[in-house]
Amino acid sequence: MTLLTFRFAPSPNGELHLGHAQSALLNHDMARRVGGRFLLRIEDIDTSRCTPEFEAGIYRDLEWLGIEWETPVRRQSEHFADYEAALARLIKAGFVYPAFMTRGQIRGFLAERTIAGDLWPRDPDGAPLYPGLDKKLSERGRLKRIASGESFVWRLDVEKACGALPAEELSWQEAEDGSWEARRTILAEPRLLGDVVIARKEIPTSYFLSVVVDDALQGVSHIVRGRDLYQATAIQRLLQQHLGLPAPLYFHHRLIEGPDGRKLSKSNRDSGIRALREAGVTPADVRRMVGLE
Ligand code: GLU
Repeated sequence: MTLLTFRFAPSPNGELHLGHAQSALLNHDMARRVGGRFLLRIEDIDTSRCTPEFEAGIYRDLEWLGIEWETPVRRQSEHFADYEAALARLIKAGFVYPAFMTRGQIRGFLAERTIAGDLWPRDPDGAPLYPGLDKKLSERGRLKRIASGESFVWRLDVEKACGALPAEELSWQEAEDGSWEARRTILAEPRLLGDVVIARKEIPTSYFLSVVVDDALQGVSHIVRGRDLYQATAIQRLLQQHLGLPAPLYFHHRLIEGPDGRKLSKSNRDSGIRALREAGVTPADVRRMVGLE
């Protein structure tokens, strides 16, 4: 029998806050309850923002919360070759394209559309979708620009990738209220996020790609994470289908709000786990604060 496998996958680009504690504890408790595995994965592909200090802080905070994880911990920065191989498959299949538009060019394009009276589509977070003009470049044109050293990122051709699959293959199973017996089938809508970045010129991956590669490689069967990643699941399901990876079950839990009613961020110092610990809060208090007894 294969064991049910859960994971907590933080990025060491800041300190853990109550929202992370909620995710980590939920995963840990669920794994415990079913006699499954609990993995910790360090998502440190952004080597310019991730630091060994933040990583050490993650271990310290989780230990303090009473969480135990399997070792060795998978650190994404040590596995770029795995992501590169997956990227190569997507390039070969033509589901990604080199996108050359700079931020300034994108802004300029959008400003023009707005003046022209267009309501340019935006993703669920409100960011405008990538215009994708470079999809029309010829193969020769692309190679020439790459060879000239121009900067680019690999973007998903979401239309093409979606079009290559029967619609019913693009769905996922979402647990209702964290109860794995009560599940709903959610129709994935990757087009809502547009042509997201799949890899960069210098880093052969992005969040979307490395997360699906690792979840499959590590045999993760149950993904428990915040609702802020709900829509990202659509892109991840699309990538899983095209890379021949299994579909995990998902539970996107509610988000903890800060005192201002907004989603917690790594700059919300007061809700940082370290700050709470130093202020005399106990691990049991943290459990209560995130709604877990
Ligand atoms: N590394 C992601 C984050 O810190 C979470 C990845 C995931 O749970 O899919 O937001």
